[in-house]
Amino acid sequence: MGLPNPNPRVAEPTFGSNLLSALPAELFERPIVHTQPEPWVLVRKLFEGDGGRTGMSEQARVHMVTTMEHGRVREVSSSFGPASAVFGIGGGSALDHAKYTAWTRGLPLVLVPSLLSVDAAFTKAVGVREGSRVRYVGEVYPDHLLIDYPLIQAAPELLNRAGAGDILSIFTALWDWKEAGARLGEAYFPDVAAKSARLLDRLLGNGRALGDVTPEGLRLLAEQNVEEVRLCEMVGTSRPEEGSEHYLAYCIEARTGGHYLHGQLVALCIVVAGAAQGQDVEPIRTYLDRLGLDWRPEAVGVTREQLADALCAMPAYVREEKQLLPGVFHFMESLSPEEAEAILRRVL
Ligand SMILES: [Zn+2]
Repeated sequence: MGLPNPNPRVAEPTFGSNLLSALPAELFERPIVHTQPEPWVLVRKLFEGDGGRTGMSEQARVHMVTTMEHGRVREVSSSFGPASAVFGIGGGSALDHAKYTAWTRGLPLVLVPSLLSVDAAFTKAVGVREGSRVRYVGEVYPDHLLIDYPLIQAAPELLNRAGAGDILSIFTALWDWKEAGARLGEAYFPDVAAKSARLLDRLLGNGRALGDVTPEGLRLLAEQNVEEVRLCEMVGTSRPEEGSEHYLAYCIEARTGGHYLHGQLVALCIVVAGAAQGQDVEPIRTYLDRLGLDWRPEAVGVTREQLADALCAMPAYVREEKQLLPGVFHFMESLSPEEAEAILRRVL
């Protein structure tokens, strides 16, 4: 069987320092900027009248993103006058809002992530919130995707280290995919799985550089995000990178109502789901220690009881959430408190 999309288009980042100042002047003529207070402080002088690259007043063009609720995002995006480009400078919400505005207005898009623990910079999907659900409403590619080291290094280290979680999840995702192929006859592409496994290996060999948030480490993480998006586009699902570890994370969020740092919660869930799969999770734990990303429940903000409760609920949870592709918890009839405790005892 051939790949659904052998040659997908993906965003191509530019790496370096002070990259905004090297962009073409016309983008700055009437810019719309979606940002957040911390990164804006670091870049605002580039957008200011005197010595800056644009003469417009700040209120007219700078929007501090606080929500991705669809109605509000639509209202904000249509409130700007004619513009030369849309800039998204910040974390996930700032980038998502900029993608939405550029997509609805048909404007050039510049994305400048201020931390690497979000995939909004690398994916084409334009996502908004409708209540508690995320809805994907369109697709857009950045004209410029800038991985600016000093800007990203200004963010708390934890936020960048947590970015490893969504690459590390390849460990449990590939097990699910292969098993679903063998047990259920689902389409499985060994070449793509092998490429994804190589991304994981490369990450596992580089804990120090990312842990210290060096340019080398940040570049590796960004390149891996691009490659991961490419592999998912090739097969048309997120099989190469996402599986039961994310399902467990969603279940914990749903049952506790808590908010967690995504990559850190995913790291914990990789260890637990990996154990549920019967894999040796030692290489993952060793990597996380070297990286300096604390994945223990108390660091993530979930109690051991909450974790055990969510684990027991998983077989029922994945049957209710019908959009989830089959993984280890689909293959279980149920999971008793004793069985859940046995899994946790192996890794905690
Ligand atoms: Zn994720």
